[in-house]
Amino acid sequence: MYDAPVHVSERIHHRTCPFCEATCGLEVTLDGDRVTAVRGDREDVFSGGFICPKAHGLKELHEDPDRLTTPMIRRDGELREATWDEAFEEIDRRLSPILEAHGRNAAAVYIGNPTAHNLSFLAYNPVLLRALGSQNVYTASTVDQMPKQVSAGLMFGHLLSVPVPDLDRCDHLLMLGANPLVSNGSLLTAPNMRGRLRGIRERGGKVVVVDPRRTRTADEADEHHFIRPGGDALLLAAMACTLVEESLVDVGPLAEHCEGLDELCELVLDYTPEEVAPATGIAAEDIRRMARELAGAERAAVYARIGTTTQEFGTHASWLVDVLNVLTGNLDREGGAMFTLAAAGQRNSNGTPGQGRGVRLGRWQSRVRGLGEAFGELPVACLAEEIDTPGEGQVRALITMAGNPVVSTPNSRRLEQAVEGLEFMLAVDIYVNETTRHADVILPGPGPLAKSHYDLALYQLAARSVANYSPPALEYDGPAEWEVLLRLAGVVSGQGPDADVDALDRLVIDTLIGRELADPRSRVAGRDAGELLEELEPRRGPERMLDFMLRAGPFGDGFGADPDGLTLDVLERNPHGVDLGPHRPRIPEVLRTPSGKIELVPEAIVADLPRLTAAMERRQNGGMVLIGRRQLRSNNSWMHNLPALVKGKDRCTMLMHPDDAARLGLVDGGTAMVTSAAGELEAPVELTDEVMPGVVSIPHGWGHSAPGTQLSVASEHAGVNSNLLADETLVEPLSGNAILNGIPVEVVPAPVPAVAQIG
Ligand code: SF4
Repeated sequence: MYDAPVHVSERIHHRTCPFCEATCGLEVTLDGDRVTAVRGDREDVFSGGFICPKAHGLKELHEDPDRLTTPMIRRDGELREATWDEAFEEIDRRLSPILEAHGRNAAAVYIGNPTAHNLSFLAYNPVLLRALGSQNVYTASTVDQMPKQVSAGLMFGHLLSVPVPDLDRCDHLLMLGANPLVSNGSLLTAPNMRGRLRGIRERGGKVVVVDPRRTRTADEADEHHFIRPGGDALLLAAMACTLVEESLVDVGPLAEHCEGLDELCELVLDYTPEEVAPATGIAAEDIRRMARELAGAERAAVYARIGTTTQEFGTHASWLVDVLNVLTGNLDREGGAMFTLAAAGQRNSNGTPGQGRGVRLGRWQSRVRGLGEAFGELPVACLAEEIDTPGEGQVRALITMAGNPVVSTPNSRRLEQAVEGLEFMLAVDIYVNETTRHADVILPGPGPLAKSHYDLALYQLAARSVANYSPPALEYDGPAEWEVLLRLAGVVSGQGPDADVDALDRLVIDTLIGRELADPRSRVAGRDAGELLEELEPRRGPERMLDFMLRAGPFGDGFGADPDGLTLDVLERNPHGVDLGPHRPRIPEVLRTPSGKIELVPEAIVADLPRLTAAMERRQNGGMVLIGRRQLRSNNSWMHNLPALVKGKDRCTMLMHPDDAARLGLVDGGTAMVTSAAGELEAPVELTDEVMPGVVSIPHGWGHSAPGTQLSVASEHAGVNSNLLADETLVEPLSGNAILNGIPVEVVPAPVPAVAQIG
């Protein structure tokens, strides 16, 4: 193989790609501060050289002239460049009086998806949120995966106890509402999904995809079934019913760790394949065969993603995925659905029996609609009404962190208007986008190569245990993101704009160490706090936190060939990452339920079953429903300003089946007017039989035509914002997740613009 030569002035930098959950290793060639090449790192212990087209966006993001490099303050209605000191003074001047006069809940926070790939945000956002003390915390989780976290929390006792398919040892994989060949995995960190899925088939196994659209992943599978949007929970319940009816339930050694098995087997009998077939669109004999094949496979896993969580039965579907994994004896088994073991940030992993406090949901409610919190956040579908509804507790200030909720959350039009009415808005962001254009202050961050990287969150969902740390490759003359977050924490806690960041950071690490030492199950229990702190010298910031978490983590006292244990020093010496091995069974140690068992019939989920039962009666009425779709060169709303990722034909189209188009008078390349209860939009029509009849698909994250943004490339490829059609009043009741798939819509040809009359 030909290797491009590296010129004398060039240097190679290895780092983890920050763009999606796959955590691929990159080999970046730099000439000074110029990126001359981005390739896959063939020595990366996890990705082995695999990358997708988005990786090349790293160079364009680094060079993007629209990316902010200095703080911005609104003066006389315009965003103007300012110094860091001026920006913090302005924040203190505008935000502090609001908090003082109206209380902590007067400020809301929205945290966007890119923060999940950012070490500083992951480590220091909790510090800022604690300092702010507002109950109005919103994130992208409630337009995404919250139902899975709720079901995992209720079944296993922790919001991150999400089992992932053991892809490399699995013989049968059933996937619903997931398109990992395009998303590159989600709630499942595993680079090179195509290779891993092919591996299953090459081992003689089978891959089955269930989706209202025949996706790229479906094209790679042995079998694909169209399903009516929202029908996944019924399908899974009917498969469970088949297992019970045909005596195929075999829980295996898990039996002694399960609570409610008999009740579960009784409950699912209400959902026979014959009963659910009309509502799902899948024939009863196919449902029975799928259940038999799942039960008959040597090592199998059921996996479901965003199509199943952003719909009206998201928590039921998420629960039933793991119910099937349990009933077929595949949960916590090699080759099945396994609990991960992350090197950092995963507590209580030292093999002690697993009993805990479980999860508590609904500890507070949203002011206007009374929707409950989950894991410290409220449904983002409530954000607009919390801002635009006057009264005690009204949100008057908004802080966004690497987010664009005006594009990414339901009923964009209402949220946009609400944001315009805020008394103060602060954005921590690198772009002036559709949301941040309304900000009074914007604080930028370093470029993608001027910060360190460690996937604290995503390794908790990885298909095997790995750890990879990337130091910054370039200098940055502004404050690091963690310093910005601590300085903000100083402002909101009343210390003014010049809080002592080092003192705050010392408090943060002391608290982290103290919490760990207080846990009798911790690996470092009994150690001296001062001694531990000394071992971390001279590090500070997220590196100090990460080093401590690695030392206190499950590989901190040795792994593989290294008896000394995993530290940040070890990772710095291994720029291609450290492989910590495949997963091992973790039940009962991983459980944190009060019973110490797997709760198979969580009360909240069972209480909401009548709603699912009622859905069995639904029949196709000839109406259309809208679903979203993932795209390989796009990741939510924020990568559309990178030329390499938007070039070529318009990708923001509405997919429609030719039979529907013929019936409704639409043509390929024409324009459709799409109307829902929340709003309307016009979208270009793309006819394809890859979507099932009765379904149209528009990707999310587009709609970049708003004035006042600084997105010169994205605005040339604006597309339409599908969230104009999402109804913010519709949320999944157990998790508060917005319903973004299965939205009833009316689709007609768009009116032809009137031709100007001459003469
Ligand atoms: S799959 Fe994800 S992590 Fe890998 S190169 Fe593409 S965007 Fe980056």
